[in-house]
Amino acid sequence: MALKLFNTLTRSLQEFAPSAADANKIGMYCCGPTVYDYAHIGNWRTFVFADLVRRTLEFFGHEVRHVMNITDVEDKIIKRVQEQKVSLREFTGRFEAAFFADLKTLNCLPPHLTPRATEHIPEIIALIEKLIARGVAYRAGDGSVYFSIAKYRGCGCTYGQLQKLNFDELRVGERVAADEYDKEAVADFALWKARVPADGAVFWPSPWGEGRPGWHIECSAMSMKALGESFDLHLGGEDLKFPHHEDEIAQSEGATGKPFVKHWLHAAHLLVEGKKMSKSLGNYFTLRDLLANGFTGREVRFLLLTAHYRETFNFTIEGLHGAKTALARIDECVGKLREVGAPASGPARSSAAVPAQPAGPDAGAPARLVADFSAALADDLNISAAWAAVFEWVRVTNKRLAENSLTAVAAAAALAEWEKVDAVLGVGARAAAEIPAEIEALLEARQAARKAKDFKQSDAIRDELKAKGWVIEDTPKGPKLKRF
Ligand code: AMP
Ligand code: ZN
Repeated sequence: MALKLFNTLTRSLQEFAPSAADANKIGMYCCGPTVYDYAHIGNWRTFVFADLVRRTLEFFGHEVRHVMNITDVEDKIIKRVQEQKVSLREFTGRFEAAFFADLKTLNCLPPHLTPRATEHIPEIIALIEKLIARGVAYRAGDGSVYFSIAKYRGCGCTYGQLQKLNFDELRVGERVAADEYDKEAVADFALWKARVPADGAVFWPSPWGEGRPGWHIECSAMSMKALGESFDLHLGGEDLKFPHHEDEIAQSEGATGKPFVKHWLHAAHLLVEGKKMSKSLGNYFTLRDLLANGFTGREVRFLLLTAHYRETFNFTIEGLHGAKTALARIDECVGKLREVGAPASGPARSSAAVPAQPAGPDAGAPARLVADFSAALADDLNISAAWAAVFEWVRVTNKRLAENSLTAVAAAAALAEWEKVDAVLGVGARAAAEIPAEIEALLEARQAARKAKDFKQSDAIRDELKAKGWVIEDTPKGPKLKRF
């Protein structure tokens, strides 16, 4: 089945066709975090989206080389390093470690390569030298180096590939030094920024004097080093289209004369309770804030995966409660399938009691789960249709389970289907792994009390667990904890 994705470069839905050189191998670069703070839930929408793209490509049989950089030197970082009077590495290391821990909590597959900008200064300098040699970059009086938009356009190159830009106001040689600026400020942008007192100890030597790289050149240097001068897929949040990605294209194509990236994918932004997230509005959440409020990484991942990536997503606490309920439905169904599909250890059924039948499409895949799910993803990652396929499968499977009409073989086949689908969704029933140690300890204490026939104590513990949001179900295989 052909996978179609919306390409920002062509503004159209396009069949995803990897470059001919190695038809099945895909180079995928996603702009990584700027490690100056804990990543917020908006950032996570973009990174979970990148994880969905990677897993989808793998689902469709591609071999993906997933690269995500760590932006560990840029304007905002330097400002905070100066304020906090710590070393650059000490400051960024803390947030980088937190980022990788959060990535794991959200069950995102780790990228194959996570290069740091500060470890690519020689590559960045070499790229800037190439741009100067090709006549599209120049050294300014203070020792900074700028990219010349006029020279670049003069070579027949297009600046404004991802977004239409208005050049009427642009005066030749007008410059912007900041890493972040908006469309109205289109101007020659900084590749290398000469050292100023506010940079403190953050500088490197270069052929143009001491200084540091601009943010945009970092991604051109790291992506081309990892994936070659031309590669298949580049991702990021929609705010990065301009100037960051536009500048990446200009720097890379200006240096190599080759097309930089074939497909550009951009995820729309996330709002919280309908508003732009901001600390002053009190609607700013990091993943850690949500975990501290009793939600799990799995619930957050589920919620972030419920909306189409090109639609603005409205994140709400109510939505997180809904995620909890939806996941419980999946868990219950998958849990029962496991019991039926593994009769040897199951309490009620056995393959002798229910004769095995061949797992035909009807028996094993009651709702054509994999087929419907693939068709949905192939349509520009139509996640709503993908979830509809999952919940239809849950409905039909539950019905069959209730009717006792699923054989062990059919249940095992249904589980295998679910696992294929969950290789993309990554929300699989991992309830046991998510039980906090404190809750496990209470369960053990209750078991001990029951064993000692201290029912008063065991009931008290049951109530305590209930107050913490957990119920105990006593099953023939022993007690099971469930969230409600
Ligand atoms: P940063 O750490 O600021 O460089 O951002 C990391 C990623 O998060 C980038 O791809 C941004 O486009 C993305 N991003 C930032 N804010 C939001 C938001 N509110 N919603 C979705 N993605 C965002
Ligand atoms: Zn980038």
